[in-house]
Amino acid sequence: RRRLDSRSCPPGLFTEIQTQIRTEPLDSLYVITNAELGRGKFAVVKKCEEKATGKEYAAKFLKKRRRGRDCRAEIVHEVAVLEAMRANPRVVNLHEVFETEHDIVLLLEYAAGGEIFDHCVSEEILSERQITRLLRQTLEGVHLLHQSSLVHLDLKPQNILLTSLNPLGDIKIVDFGLARRLGTTGELREILGTPEYVAPEILNYEPITTATDLWSVGVIAYMLVTGESPFQGEDKQETFLNVSQVNVDYCKEAFAGVSELAVDFIQKLLVKSPEDRPSAAECLTHPWLWQSSPDSEPSTPQPSRGPRERSAGKWGATTPLDDPE
Ligand code: ADP
Ligand code: MG
Repeated sequence: RRRLDSRSCPPGLFTEIQTQIRTEPLDSLYVITNAELGRGKFAVVKKCEEKATGKEYAAKFLKKRRRGRDCRAEIVHEVAVLEAMRANPRVVNLHEVFETEHDIVLLLEYAAGGEIFDHCVSEEILSERQITRLLRQTLEGVHLLHQSSLVHLDLKPQNILLTSLNPLGDIKIVDFGLARRLGTTGELREILGTPEYVAPEILNYEPITTATDLWSVGVIAYMLVTGESPFQGEDKQETFLNVSQVNVDYCKEAFAGVSELAVDFIQKLLVKSPEDRPSAAECLTHPWLWQSSPDSEPSTPQPSRGPRERSAGKWGATTPLDDPE
């Protein structure tokens, strides 16, 4: 067990991990492919294969120094959250951890189906049956997270992955870099996340609660159903304004053919006051999620409603706006 100096730890961060950080050369044990699975500001994720077993993993390389600052505490925290979620089947499994000269490398269970983001921007929108299955799984994962007094704070379609694409597999929640523990050192207030997906209370620097994640689930549901981002404006400022005013449109042609229950579900989540949002457990009782006997649901893809009209430039303008500072 390693313990870090508490002075270097912001509130809500774990400081202890069980996983042994290995220092032997990573490439002696894994074949790292050049194929990038994803990339953020301080992390790059590459597909790799464990030599001993031939099993595939995703290696997340996290820079130890960012903007000249030692970020080891944040990385240790991310590892600790993954450890705490080991029993959560909707969270990506942590296999092992390595340290190299500049990085700490998390070897994660490989989610071969990619991001559900791809299904939010594709011409072929998923059937409501598939969407509700993915949302049930997401809510199950979020519910277990919240039961452990943890909040994700960066739930978005890029951080919900799929175990397989064809047939459409199960979801795995990733990216616990912004996750926090609630109720340890008083109120948690922080400005973080991605403008398009962030809840109004974050923008207003009000206390963070589990309800903050439920807002994001509402945004994800909106995007899966319509293929559009509900709050995205022309620029960051406009997006922030749209979020804080809950300026969201349900009457557009984007909602043509969408069930009334779907709209009801989304409307219950995209409300300004966190106290008025249902919990993950309450969401899981919403009738929309349990329509048409999901137990007998075939695992093969459902026929989609077909391509939908979209404003051409909309997704071209989607740049990651993450700026935790
Ligand atoms: P960041 O903190 O930089 O956003 P993430 O953990 O979200 O890092 O990883 C970035 C991207 O890499 C993800 O959006 C996803 O596309 C891909 N990725 C991350 N983990 C995995 C995984 N276990 N399997 C497959 N792809 C992954
Ligand atoms: Mg991410």
